[in-house]
Order: sequence, then structure tokens, then C-alpha cells
Amino acid sequence: MSAPNQDRLHVSFRPSDRARQALETLPGPVTCAAAPSGQDRSELLSDVRGAAALVCLLTDRVDAELLDAAGPSLRVVANMAVGYDNVDVAACAARGITVTNTPGVLDEATADLAFALLLATSRRVVEADAFVRSGEPWSWRPDLFVGLDVSSGATLGIVGLGRIGLAMARRARAFDMRIVATPSRSAGDEAARLGIETLPLADLLVTSDVVSLHCPLTPDTRHLVGAEELRLMGPGSVLVNTARGPIVDEAALAAALADGTIGAAGLDVFENEPAVHPELLALPNVVLLPHIGSAGRATRDRMAMLAIDNARAVLAGEPAPTPVHP
Ligand code: NAP
Repeated sequence: MSAPNQDRLHVSFRPSDRARQALETLPGPVTCAAAPSGQDRSELLSDVRGAAALVCLLTDRVDAELLDAAGPSLRVVANMAVGYDNVDVAACAARGITVTNTPGVLDEATADLAFALLLATSRRVVEADAFVRSGEPWSWRPDLFVGLDVSSGATLGIVGLGRIGLAMARRARAFDMRIVATPSRSAGDEAARLGIETLPLADLLVTSDVVSLHCPLTPDTRHLVGAEELRLMGPGSVLVNTARGPIVDEAALAAALADGTIGAAGLDVFENEPAVHPELLALPNVVLLPHIGSAGRATRDRMAMLAIDNARAVLAGEPAPTPVHP
């Protein structure tokens, strides 16, 4: 813990070497947590006291308690993530605190991982790998781990056709998939160029072989996919979620995977992260990843550099490059 300082920037995790170099060029003092995974709550509340800037992770809850702990010196919260459902943006705005995120620099990495989940679940890659490792005798046979044909006209339904949704669509186009998506104000010309059809959510769920979620977590999208939506998707269909866990009712998903309401799921995010619904852990037809969507080396550096640049800009009295608008 360091003494209060008007222009101190606090980083709630241990920065990479590249990010550390950028921090060293800043004019004011910088404090950093020791662990790459971030700080526990009491340590963060203590270290943020008197800071002017906070560079934080999506696992840090930035709420009234934290803002009270920081005190009136705090001018900017720079989240090292594009999603900012961990930040009470209205509470920050009420105190004149700028909130920033890291849009654009992680689209390709996150879409790569979503497409990896699409292929892994459709073609049962993880299940088949576990089977080989089990030592069970096997030989080639026509019915061994048969799954969904991805590039022979399968339909991908994208819920949230923003930056990452469009990056996912570009990958699906290369696999000759038919692509449908929920309406989006931000998709623009690229959606037309990629030949994406727009459908209301219920129609998209009925039409798609694979549904991939790319919308933000907001009060409107919490449990957007529940028992009824899974029933609309139907047997053999696949759900991929690299957006945020609470967008899916995880108990309903576990039940739907267990009773064959849908065929498979690929999840990078969980409703009560890092906890995973115990029924999911026991199911063979779900691939479970520990929230690694943006975990490319260069991508992580770009995210950290953008978060640091946002904090630097606000401290220097300049407009933040990527502010979040309340
Ligand atoms: P974005 O460019 O803002 O795109 C989000 C899209 O969702 C927009 O097209 C938006 O439509 C749409 N949307 C909003 N509410 C919706 C609803 N109720 N139903 C359907 N669509 C809705 O965001 P992004 O940069 O692509 O990131 C998307 C999300 O991915 C982030 O919020 C984050 O939670 C998640 N993410 C996860 C990882 C990971 O590690 N797994 C990494 C990066 C991001 P409008 O344009 O009409 O507003």
C-alpha cells in the first residue's frame, strides 16, 4: 500500500513486461499488484485509496464501495476488457470518473476461440481425445464420434453482431456456412458484404445449427438463453458462449445438454465464474474453457497498452481513446 498521491496510477494486477515498460514512461507514480491474476478485494480497496487512476481487470468489481474507498482523487477507471459489466458506469459518471474499455484489439483472438469451440463441439474433438486417452480399444468405424458437418451448409446464428460477432462471421464465411444474426445497429455494410441475414432471436434459434453469443451482458441480456430458447434450438444444435456467463441460464443449459434438448455446448464463460455448474462438469457433450477468449500474447499486450493509454490520457487532461458512454 502506498501513500495517497493525486496523480498515482494503480494497476490491480501484475503487468506484462511490455505493459511495465509503458508504465515506466508515465510522469506520475505507479503502484502495481504482485499477482498476475489480480488482487483480493480488501487489498484492492486499500491500494486504490488516494489513486487518480485505476487500471483493472474484469474480475474487479468497481462499485460504490470501491469508489468510496478510492476517494475524490479517482478520475479514471480503465478496464482491461471490452466488456464492462463489472463496472458501475452510472456511479462513476455521477462522480465525474471516466470509464474506459479495450474495444477492437481483441476481436480476432476472441473470434478465433469462439470458432475453435464451434469446431470442437460440432466435431466432438474433446470427447474423442478423451476416448483415445482412455485406452479403450478402437478401430475406424462409420459411427465413431459422428458430429455436425460444419462446412456443408450448416447455419451459424450470431447473437450480437458487433465487432467480435462480425469477426466470427468472417470465419464462418470462409467455412461456407450460412450466417444469420440478430439485428444490430453497429453491423453496417460488412454484414451485407458477408451475406448475413437478419432474424429475430426466436427465428434465429430455430434456424441455426450453431448459435454463438457475442452480445454484452446487460440487464436486457441476462438469461437471454434459458429453457425455452434451448428448446427452440432443438436436438443436435450447438451453443457457443464466449460473451458472458449470465447471458445463459446455466442450470437450464445443463438440463438441456443432459436430456438431448440440444446436442452440445462450448463455454468460455460461466454464470458464477469461476464456479461451473456441477452438472456441466459431468457431461461429455460440453467443452469448458477458463475464460481465455482474448488470451493471445500480442492481444493481451494490446489490451494492457490500450488500458494504460486511456488512463494516461485522462490524467493528462486529454480525451480518453476508448471511453465507455454511460
Ligand atoms: P460490440 O462491438 O459492442 O458488439 C455487441 C453487439 O451486441 C452489438 O452489435 C449490439 O447491437 C449487440 N447487442 C446488444 N444487446 C443485444 C441483445 N439484447 N440481443 C442481441 N444483440 C445485442 O462488442 P464486442 O467488442 O463485439 O464484444 C462483445 C462482448 O464479448 C463483450 O461485451 C464481452 O462481454 C465479450 N467478450 C468476451 C471475451 C472472452 O474472453 N470470452 C473477450 C472479449 C469480449 P447494437 O450494435 O445494436 O448495440
